Amino acid sequence: MKKEIPYKIYLDESELPKYWLNLRAFMDKKPAPLLNPKTLNPMTAEELSSVFCAELARQEVDDTTKYIEIPTEVRDFYKMYRPAPLIRAYCLEKVLDTPAHIYYKFEGNNTSGSHKLNSAIAQAYYAKEQGLKGVTTETGAGQWGTALSMACSYFGLDCNVYMVKVSYEQKPFRREVMRTYGATVTPSPSMTTEVGRKINEEFPGTGGSLGCAISEAVEAASNKDGYRYALGSVLNQVLLHQSVIGLETKTALDKYGVKADIIIGCAGGGSNLGGLIAPFMAEQVEGKANYRFIAVEPASCPTLTRGKYAYDYCDTGKVCPLAKMYTLGSGFIPSASHAGGLRYHGMTSTLSELYDQGLMEARSVEQTKVFEAAEYFARIEGILPAPESAHAIRVAIDEALKCKETGEHKNIVFGLTGTGYFDMMSYEKFHDGKMSDYIPSDEELQKGFAGLPDLKL
Ligand SMILES: *Cc1c(COP(=O)(O)O)cnc(C)c1O
Repeated sequence: MKKEIPYKIYLDESELPKYWLNLRAFMDKKPAPLLNPKTLNPMTAEELSSVFCAELARQEVDDTTKYIEIPTEVRDFYKMYRPAPLIRAYCLEKVLDTPAHIYYKFEGNNTSGSHKLNSAIAQAYYAKEQGLKGVTTETGAGQWGTALSMACSYFGLDCNVYMVKVSYEQKPFRREVMRTYGATVTPSPSMTTEVGRKINEEFPGTGGSLGCAISEAVEAASNKDGYRYALGSVLNQVLLHQSVIGLETKTALDKYGVKADIIIGCAGGGSNLGGLIAPFMAEQVEGKANYRFIAVEPASCPTLTRGKYAYDYCDTGKVCPLAKMYTLGSGFIPSASHAGGLRYHGMTSTLSELYDQGLMEARSVEQTKVFEAAEYFARIEGILPAPESAHAIRVAIDEALKCKETGEHKNIVFGLTGTGYFDMMSYEKFHDGKMSDYIPSDEELQKGFAGLPDLKL
């Protein structure tokens, strides 16, 4: 007998994953390794461990271990806000009048308001284990900085956040949340690092960028004894930790015998999407299933849909290893789009490789269309979505409407990565009709590509 599917599929604590899933270990053709910018050889765990904690450096280069145990301390912390519910969007289906079934995995049920806490707590744990004093990091819109501040305060670590200056000024409440958890927050570019002083000199009055804040945080970590650097997306280790999203989603669907047809997620650096699709893509590459995966990105920062697949710098100051990824060039500065968390110039190497192999689709969407979907969703499903998350909502709705046209029944699953309480200035612009849809021209993108390193590999 088929069980009736509840509005919220809850898992109990015992169903919380005990292992993270390392998607790269399932792939035949592996994502390209990080390269040492000086020697152009693949970075070893040892080299990386001057920047990251030793265990995280090890995870970063591991593309053979399929499952990695979640430490008990991390799992105990997860228990405070996980498993996250998988919600059947019955109300949305009804108003869309679609034969499709829509499910979403909600990651906004914690104070940081997003999925980023899943990796923050793991990174803080390994830092504590190693006996470090603290970590440095950057934050753009503020979600990652908040998550890491929470995780560090839990383990009694110091947390220094370099926050992109425009956000520091526009989002004072985010800043105060971080300080509530004991973090120090410095607007970037600052005068406290060499790279910050250089950028300030070159571009007086600049509002900063993610790539620039990364350079500052890396420099700060390397200059301080007992500190390492932490990053909230893009890296393999972050995708690994975020696989908890996909594993829970799969367990919940399996419980009711539901097979997903389309899996959708927004893609900034690619961590939530990489985590959501991990167990499903693992089946796909092993030829055991046939899903459609869609990455959704802003038309203002079209990394997958219009970028180039090449080795590039990860940061503005060029202090980080080189990564092969879909990229718009490290010099690309996206327009002042509001989807703060989706403004990074590159895409994590795993998703880049999957996309290049044709195993994943990508779509770019315009901002006003995203906010239309966000508001529509809020009014029907109740949750006020983060603008980043609303990119996935937009495409989920579009796919459900296609099903209405064709009369096909499909199971659509998307990741609702977070809440939008700190994004009300963008909602205000949308409501006041002051939001624009900036799409970079080919000439503008060309400028970014011109800055790609010529490695002669
Ligand atoms: C950071 C963030 C994203 C994008 O980051 P990914 O690494 O691509 O997942 C998406 N949604 C929210 C709410 C975020 O905070």
